[in-house]
Amino acid sequence: MSHPETTRPETTRRPISRGLRILSEPPRPEGLRQPTPPAPPPQPQRSTWPARSERSSSVSPSLPSAGLAPAPHPLTDAFGRQLTYLRVSVTDRCNLRCTYCLPEDADFPFGDRDFLSPEEIEAIVGALVRLGIRRVRLTGGEPLVRKDIVEIARRVKALPGVENLALSTNGTELARLAEPLRAAGVDRVNISLDSLDAERFRAITRRGSLEAVWQGVEAALAAGFSPVKLNAVLLSRQNLEDVDRLVELTLDRPLSVRFIEMMPTASNRHLQPDEYVSSDVVKQRIEARFGKLLPLDPRHAAAGPRTGPAAAYQLAGAQGAVGFITPLSHTFCADCNRLRLTARGELRLCLFADRVYPLRHLLVPSVPGVEDGREALEAEILRVLQEKPAEHMLARGDYGNLVSFMEIGG
Ligand code: SAM
Repeated sequence: MSHPETTRPETTRRPISRGLRILSEPPRPEGLRQPTPPAPPPQPQRSTWPARSERSSSVSPSLPSAGLAPAPHPLTDAFGRQLTYLRVSVTDRCNLRCTYCLPEDADFPFGDRDFLSPEEIEAIVGALVRLGIRRVRLTGGEPLVRKDIVEIARRVKALPGVENLALSTNGTELARLAEPLRAAGVDRVNISLDSLDAERFRAITRRGSLEAVWQGVEAALAAGFSPVKLNAVLLSRQNLEDVDRLVELTLDRPLSVRFIEMMPTASNRHLQPDEYVSSDVVKQRIEARFGKLLPLDPRHAAAGPRTGPAAAYQLAGAQGAVGFITPLSHTFCADCNRLRLTARGELRLCLFADRVYPLRHLLVPSVPGVEDGREALEAEILRVLQEKPAEHMLARGDYGNLVSFMEIGG
């Protein structure tokens, strides 16, 4: 694999930023190599969507409020959805090549210098948090391949307004990093674990070691993350038989195991539609073997704070939980509360919407005494937010131009 940093012309490299201010008149971004696709035609408002005034929100942002009326939530989109959850991709690189996620010979065009620095992440996430983001997840690519991941976590958690910081990882480096990440303020971790059989795990990840990941799981529990969630993407011919063993883990360990429906991308065409397994099928299988899955009390430690679409259950008397993430069989766009920041500083409004909105160019090294102009960044975020689409088109098999979740952090 060629290393892009050794071949990229000097002119496209960004200076390492030290202390940031924000330009009030954003110039055309220098070094932005990926043209932004033209704006999509305006989304028709769908009749199935309640008007903003009719929608009740399950989220209550804790913005400062004067008087009795609740403060308006600045990050409210054209459909009345309040955005409180941000997923931050810190890299698109990964040390595994899961069959449903990346091609075996995947090559990554970008290197660490193309990705936001810890200071830049702090500045952009800071703007989003001032506007109402409350929960942040660091993801990738594989976030733990970044050498400065602990610093990134520390800076994000220190931002006033961040109530909860989570991390998604494949776990390969977690045994080493669990404690420093916990000390940096990461509250909870999701670990991808598609099989508990060493050979199947190796076959799915094409290069991973189950033992290393399991040491990461144990290190996460020992470090005190709460909850620790294990995510398994199910494939009918590769790991369906792992369902029972994964569910068994929840009986006597405080683990939350979640089954994710494989979402179509250009990288997993070879698996579609034969290997897709609906969560309904998995739930039936679990109940036939273990008995009824009971709705999980949201105060249960394994549930964690609700940030997303997982339907959570538990078996009677179990310490842990079982969840299902069902982007295809049961869409959850109407309750979407999330935004995504790509590793190169673009806002992505929907997992399966092609358009991204560059924000990095609004950041420049700060000059002492000069007004930092952060309002311009906030204004740009509020402006583009109104383009968040009503729903993604996945159920119709349209995954836009998405090659892999590694581009956006799933
Ligand atoms: N490397 C980290 C990890 O393994 O969790 C974070 C990035 S990874 C893209 C995030 C999650 O997306 C993982 O649980 C992975 O299994 C899942 N994922 C990747 N491609 C997927 C797909 N096509 N459909 C459903 N889930 C997918």
